[in-house]
Amino acid sequence: MTQTLLQEKTLTNFIDGKWAEAGETTPVNNPATGETVVHVPLSTAKDVDQAVDVAKKAQKEWARVPAPQRADVLYRVGQLMIERKERLSQLLTMENGKVLEEARGEVQEGIDMAFYMAGEGRRLFGHTTPAELDNKFAMSVRAPVGVVGIITPWNFPIAIATWKSFPAIVAGNAVIWKPATETPIMAYELAKIFEEAGLPSGVVNVVFGSGSTVGDAMVHHKDIRVISFTGSNDTGRSIAAKCGEQLKKVSLEMGGKNAVIVMDDADLDLAADGIIWSAYGTSGQRCTAASRVIVHQAVKAQLEEKLLTKMQDLNIGNGLDETNKVGPIINKAGLDKIKKYIDIGKDEGAELLAGGYELTDGDYKGGFYFAPTLFTNVTSEMRIAQEEIFGPVISLISVESFEEAIEVNNGVSYGLSSSIFTADVNRVFRAQRDLDTGIVYVNAGTTGAEIHLPFGGTKGTGNGHRDSGVQALDVFTEWKAVYVDYSGKLQRAQIDVE
Ligand code: NAP
Repeated sequence: MTQTLLQEKTLTNFIDGKWAEAGETTPVNNPATGETVVHVPLSTAKDVDQAVDVAKKAQKEWARVPAPQRADVLYRVGQLMIERKERLSQLLTMENGKVLEEARGEVQEGIDMAFYMAGEGRRLFGHTTPAELDNKFAMSVRAPVGVVGIITPWNFPIAIATWKSFPAIVAGNAVIWKPATETPIMAYELAKIFEEAGLPSGVVNVVFGSGSTVGDAMVHHKDIRVISFTGSNDTGRSIAAKCGEQLKKVSLEMGGKNAVIVMDDADLDLAADGIIWSAYGTSGQRCTAASRVIVHQAVKAQLEEKLLTKMQDLNIGNGLDETNKVGPIINKAGLDKIKKYIDIGKDEGAELLAGGYELTDGDYKGGFYFAPTLFTNVTSEMRIAQEEIFGPVISLISVESFEEAIEVNNGVSYGLSSSIFTADVNRVFRAQRDLDTGIVYVNAGTTGAEIHLPFGGTKGTGNGHRDSGVQALDVFTEWKAVYVDYSGKLQRAQIDVE
């Protein structure tokens, strides 16, 4: 089926508007079947150098194109994505494994981002403000940074790329993009869309290859002025240290250990639906996946029962079959990590209520499948309640009060997303104030971000920047303060003020 959707057997880099020759390559396998879908280049630091050289030239001209005209290209990108939505979604399921319904949602997120950021072409607001001296004008404007590097993970191969590349483009930057080696097809397809939408050559360049070679070369390249990274905490930390040495701006979006709080007055059916969707959707491989449930002890038994009942409806299998609700894990390493945490949970004394095993026979042969898993009687200091597992595993922790629920939620090193189910409006407002996460949901699960709001987290999830929303522009622009003195004489700030 892949070959009917994708003619190419080998993808190639997109540099200066041209499709380069592929050198050494590596296979990309469908996690649902183990079959090779396509081959992807393993580029070198030289390819990065070449891409940066052309990007530098292209950026100078691109920055002079009026922003509303830059935005017109994004409108065309969004339109082409609409026309290709179904094809892109099927290819996304083949390279990443997520079920088709979720793949369509992810492509839609990219479409939404295209139109939202295209709208920024007529905003990109700065500020005007009074100057402290007479006959003097003051304003701040956004200026592009130059050549920016974006490094993306496999779990949202198109949405995250659009969160980063679209604001960068509309703000007048040129982009070097290194997608995850596991999921290169979306990058290839998006590059084709940029080309067809009329983006000038060199404004976006896609360099495929490993993080340790291509990603590292980008991080160290002196002419890449910003690195915008989404991925694991370990990789993010090492990138931040390297960027720090070079005084290079770096935006990091990393892991999570997100919790759903269920209070004693919650609608338990709604809470169970929210938990199932947030914990087992995308097989738990979302940065916002719910991996902890913090439940008031008065409703713990009822909630467990509801979860166990609803879990029986979760068909597991190839995401292209629309009856399936839970797809595969990305690869063997991902599966092994989940299995390791199942053993850790058991050793720590957590009680396994459901799942906890790999699926290998029959239709599962060749793929990487893991049964949705529910641990209960977990305590908040256990490793399964502290560390990111990145699989369909819930740790259920019971608490005695609202205050304890907030404390448990905040007692992890991450701070991406949190959620509370309650009918008490006072608790709702206290929770949104006290939950130490970048995203808070009330009476909904931990996932479901909309593109016009800032996305990112506190503590170990990031370093204070945000993807998406108007806030994303802060990553890809420099603030410039401009003073125009039209008094015709020397006026000294702070000194010549009466
Ligand atoms: P990862 O292993 O850190 O990889 C992310 C990207 O970084 C890939 O493109 C990878 O390249 C590249 N990379 C690896 N080593 C590098 C290095 N030394 N220098 C430069 N780049 C390097 O993460 P992942 O396993 O793909 O993604 C899962 C993680 O992402 C989870 O922790 C999840 O929570 C997080 N995530 C966070 C958000 C958020 O917005 N907060 C959203 C989605 C995912 P190769 O893989 O090609 O080698």
